[in-house]
Amino acid sequence: TVKTRFAPSPTGFLHVGGARTALYSWLYARNQGGQFVLRIEDTDIERSTQEAIDAIIEGMDWLGLNWEEGPYYQTKRFDRYNSLIDQLLEEGKAYKCYCSRERLDGLREQQMADGEKPRYDGKCRDGAEHDADAPFVIRFRNPQEGTVTFDDHVRGSIEVANGELDDLIIRRTDGSPTYNFCVVVDDWDMGITQVVRGEDHINNTPRQINIYHALGAPVPEFAHVSMILGDDGAKLSKRHGAVSVMQYRDDGYLPEALLNYLVRLGWSNGDQEIFSKQEMIELFSLKAISKSASAFNTEKLLWLNQHYMKTMSADYVAEQLAWHFNDQKIDVANGPALTELVPVMAERCHTLKELAESSRYYYEDFAQFDAAAAKKHLRPVAQAPLELVKDKLAALTDWNAEAIHQCIQDAAAELELGMGKVGMPLRVAVTGAGQSPSLDQTILLIGQTRAVERIGKAVE
Ligand code: GLU
Repeated sequence: TVKTRFAPSPTGFLHVGGARTALYSWLYARNQGGQFVLRIEDTDIERSTQEAIDAIIEGMDWLGLNWEEGPYYQTKRFDRYNSLIDQLLEEGKAYKCYCSRERLDGLREQQMADGEKPRYDGKCRDGAEHDADAPFVIRFRNPQEGTVTFDDHVRGSIEVANGELDDLIIRRTDGSPTYNFCVVVDDWDMGITQVVRGEDHINNTPRQINIYHALGAPVPEFAHVSMILGDDGAKLSKRHGAVSVMQYRDDGYLPEALLNYLVRLGWSNGDQEIFSKQEMIELFSLKAISKSASAFNTEKLLWLNQHYMKTMSADYVAEQLAWHFNDQKIDVANGPALTELVPVMAERCHTLKELAESSRYYYEDFAQFDAAAAKKHLRPVAQAPLELVKDKLAALTDWNAEAIHQCIQDAAAELELGMGKVGMPLRVAVTGAGQSPSLDQTILLIGQTRAVERIGKAVE
């Protein structure tokens, strides 16, 4: 049975590249009715933090990428790695290397000067002179003959000559095992069948395959996913805007929109753009992942976000929206229910944050009118139509959009004015600004008492 994993190093937040890798790995497991594992690769103790672990888990939770097993922590498995390293030592598949830092640095410099690829020269392969208490690392004895081949789901067949690979350090002088070894042991112990990860690891794969062979472990399948670039073609980084998944939540994106965006960023199913989670699961395949790097496109993400704001249930969107009102310190108890606000405002906004920001006037009285809008629409001509609409609105016994619309229309007819000459002053009077959704919807949501009061203030 299929089992995949996401194996982040907890050295920072969950960024969009990591989230997309996690998504693809998760989707494959779900598509195959398999299982998904979360593994925290915290062997780099200096750079790993609890904060980063929490941030990764929070991001996975927010995106709804759930796991059946884990989180596992590599730092809790050192005994296991070390016992396998000892076994390889005994079998002669690994060896102690006493080469000093100075020697290795010198070797590297020489090789670079000679135009060669820097690599360990195998000095300690067949035993080495050393002091009894000299520090040593343990290196994997990589085969020197033959080739390593694997069939990458994304990139097809890949072949590397063993002669190209040097003997990798698998245990440091301080006794700690290294990434390339731990990852193999984990994927083996955890029964991972497909390794889905970033293409930055593709050079590690042949080395890891040799370690699988040395351990007598079955080799999983691999899928290396290409990079995400910024819209300027450079590697995606902070300067392109948000890169942390949780920053997208704070900026007002729905997780459904980000997931849909990420799945399309490097994977396709014909020209389909909109995918519910269920559809992604049904349609996903590793083979359809694109080989080329994908460029991040914020416009498209905004478009998707608005699509989900408009089409998902108002209850759900309102739930997500509440956080943003809270964040902007707008008390939603003082105005329309968010479920009623959503269908009216989602048409005009691309993020939940924008929606909350531009809805303040439904919940709070504004201190002053937008100066330009007031100058243009409120004075001096608007007195009569505003007074008339105010009286009509105040007299309504059934507060609904149609009745409100009728009041505005009747006032315009009675004064022989165009709708705009009534509507624009009215809009400024009730919202404080020159822009809002349709007037009847806006006034309906603002409420009768508040709307009448505001018009009264505008004509004072
Ligand atoms: N821990 C590695 C990283 O965060 C991933 C290793 C893997 O997926 O094999 O880049």
